Amino acid sequence: MDKLLRVRFAPSPTGYLHVGGLRTALYNYLFARKNNGKFILRIEDTDRNRYVEGAVENLINSLKWAGLDYDEGPDIGGVYGPYMQSQRLNIYKQYAKELINIGNAYYCFCSQERLQKLREEQEKQKLPQVKYDKHCLNLTTEEIEKKIKDKLPFVIRLNVKPNQKIIFNDIIRGQVEFDSNNIDDQILIKSDDYPTYHLANVVDDHLMKISHVIRGEEWLSSTPKHVILYDAFGWERPKFAHLPLLLNPDKSKLSKRQGDVAVEDYRDKGYLKEALINFVALLGWNAGDDREFYYLNELIEAFSLERVNKSGAVFDIVKLNSLNAEHLRRKSNGELLQMLKTELIKSEFADLSFSDERLLLIIEAMKERVSFVHEFISNCKYFYKEPEEYELKSIEKNWKPETPDHLRKFINLIAQINNPSKQDYENALTKVAEELNLGKGKLIHPLRLAVSGQSTGPGMFDLLYILGKEEVIKRIEKAIESINVK
Ligand code: GLU
Repeated sequence: MDKLLRVRFAPSPTGYLHVGGLRTALYNYLFARKNNGKFILRIEDTDRNRYVEGAVENLINSLKWAGLDYDEGPDIGGVYGPYMQSQRLNIYKQYAKELINIGNAYYCFCSQERLQKLREEQEKQKLPQVKYDKHCLNLTTEEIEKKIKDKLPFVIRLNVKPNQKIIFNDIIRGQVEFDSNNIDDQILIKSDDYPTYHLANVVDDHLMKISHVIRGEEWLSSTPKHVILYDAFGWERPKFAHLPLLLNPDKSKLSKRQGDVAVEDYRDKGYLKEALINFVALLGWNAGDDREFYYLNELIEAFSLERVNKSGAVFDIVKLNSLNAEHLRRKSNGELLQMLKTELIKSEFADLSFSDERLLLIIEAMKERVSFVHEFISNCKYFYKEPEEYELKSIEKNWKPETPDHLRKFINLIAQINNPSKQDYENALTKVAEELNLGKGKLIHPLRLAVSGQSTGPGMFDLLYILGKEEVIKRIEKAIESINVK
């Protein structure tokens, strides 16, 4: 039997979940769910300078909102916990010592001044890369013991052997090769006793029995250091898969400067989690056809790492918006009703009350015309209150001196009907048009303007029916009074 498939999402809590992080989490999740594996959340919080209050809760909330449930994690535990690196410091120290004992790591007592000087010298020589010169590798055991006894600050460094080819296989990129001469003797334990990302990451992936490391391309250059560590410990390497970068439309790296990057920003703007997940899944992956609409369970079915692209994926907000519209349209009217009610409470109409029946009619009329739930309000405020203004362009084009008389005729007809249906409104309009020998359009445009203040919207007779006879008459009368044309 194959070894149990275990993957992890290992974010550093920097304050929010980046959409790129969501993509990494999603691919890990899909891969695990598709292959009966386990999906683990591990918080990599060993960089105390980057610590942000509330960041872990925020991350967890964003993952939960998106529906990416994990099997083990800081808040739910698991057999390989704790899942917060700051709670595992002793483990890293113990493994760093083990590496020292076998000659693959060493204490370094060099002062900041010396390191600075070394850097400057190497920069002057225009070396391709600034590297530590292994100065402390020559210290004798006695010297090291004395310095530690004297409480000199130290770090522990990885002892990278020169002239080696570091080769590993990446599921997405194929064989990747690095020259060890280009790899610095990476710090593994810092002078504050905290591990660096590299050591903690490798130790944890090993102890947590991670079988596949699926992460962003920005970590590819760290992987040779990790491979050296796995080999140094004599541990089996996991399989690696580095996901393509996310790009702005101008092909620069997706950054905060050019738009929203936090999952919570999208949530707060009214994007549906289904749409964001669907969109993010397509950033670097497709099933080999041009299908674009997926629910999460369908993604699980269709996903494979082999079909993830190497080249950067452009973050196209237009596509996200259209997926949002599509996911919205496929929701049942009942679901939309609950969502609209929640939205109304946050809106300028919070104090008004509308019957479910009326809201459902609005939903039905607007469903094909909105991309966001809040647009059931913002795109058609006239359903909730009478217009205060009338679109100027439409007045100029459609409101003639004789329009008030025409509309009065329409009012007279519908005033006689009890609870007019859509058909009744349409019949009344046809009748007035025939009487006046006018094209229907000549009546529809001013009528729409009178009841909604706008020149576009849902079907005219839907609109009238939803507003109801009293409101329609009241609005037409108000428009006749307010709109003056010479
Ligand atoms: N802590 C790293 C991050 O913030 C994890 C990278 C990895 O998955 O190894 O993304």
